[in-house]
Amino acid sequence: MSAVSSLAWANSPATGNAIALYARWSPQLDAKIAAAVQRLRDAAISHGDGLVQSSSLGVEDMVITDLIARHQLPIDIATLDTGKLHAETLGLIPRIAERYGREVAVFQPVNEQVIQFVRREGEDAMFKSIELRKACCGVRKLEPLARMLKGRSAWITGLRREQSGARAEVAFDEDDGQGRRKLSPIADWTWTEVWAYVERFEVPTNPLHDQFMPSIGCAPCTRAIAVGEDFRAGRWWWEESTKECGLHVKP
Ligand code: SF4
Repeated sequence: MSAVSSLAWANSPATGNAIALYARWSPQLDAKIAAAVQRLRDAAISHGDGLVQSSSLGVEDMVITDLIARHQLPIDIATLDTGKLHAETLGLIPRIAERYGREVAVFQPVNEQVIQFVRREGEDAMFKSIELRKACCGVRKLEPLARMLKGRSAWITGLRREQSGARAEVAFDEDDGQGRRKLSPIADWTWTEVWAYVERFEVPTNPLHDQFMPSIGCAPCTRAIAVGEDFRAGRWWWEESTKECGLHVKP
C-alpha cells in the first residue's frame, strides 16, 4: 500500500482542495527540484530534438511541464487523447498554452481502428476481460504513443516510486526496452512534495484531483479512491491486475 493512504484526506469529506489536503514542503524538496532540473537540462543537451515529454496531464506531468517552461528548456511536450478522456483533462491543453506559451502536440488513435474495435467488441469492451481492456489500451494508447515516440531517442515521464508497488523501482534513467531512454526526473518525489511544488509555483492541475482521483486516466476506467486504498486503486478498479495500461511495461 502506498503512503497516500495515511494522508490527511483520509478523514475528509468527498470533495476537497488537493493543495490544502496534500501540500507539505519537505526539507529535501529544494534539493530535489534542483536535481530534477539538472536531469532535464542534461537530457535536453544529450538528446536535443530526440527528447519529448510524454505527458498524461496528471499532476506529476504538470509539475514537469512547469519545470521545463520555467527553466526555458528546449523540450517538446506531447500527450495522448484517447477519445475517452474527461473534459477536465483535455482542458489542461489550452491552459498550458496560455500559462507557458507552449503547444502540446496531441496524438489520437487511428479513427478506423477505434471504429472497428468498438464495432467488434462493444463500447464497454474494457469491462468484459483484461485481454479486451488491454486491447482497447492498445488501440487508444499504445499505437498513438508509438507514433509520438517515432524518431525520438528519449522520453520523459512523471512516474514516481511511491505510486504503486509495481513502480517502486522506477529509475531516473532507464532503457524502455525499445532502444530509447525513459527518463523519470521526479521519481523520488513524494505525493506531498508534488503538491507543495504545485502550491508554491501555482501550477495548473486537473480539478478531478480535488475529487480524490490521484491517478487519472480515461473516464470509464477511473474512479475516486476510498480511505486506505492504494494510489492507483481507482484505475481499472474492477480488475485484479498491476493497474498498468502497457505504456510503462517493457515489451
Ligand atoms: S484506459 Fe480504458 S478507455 Fe482508456 S484506452 Fe484503456 S481500456 Fe480503453
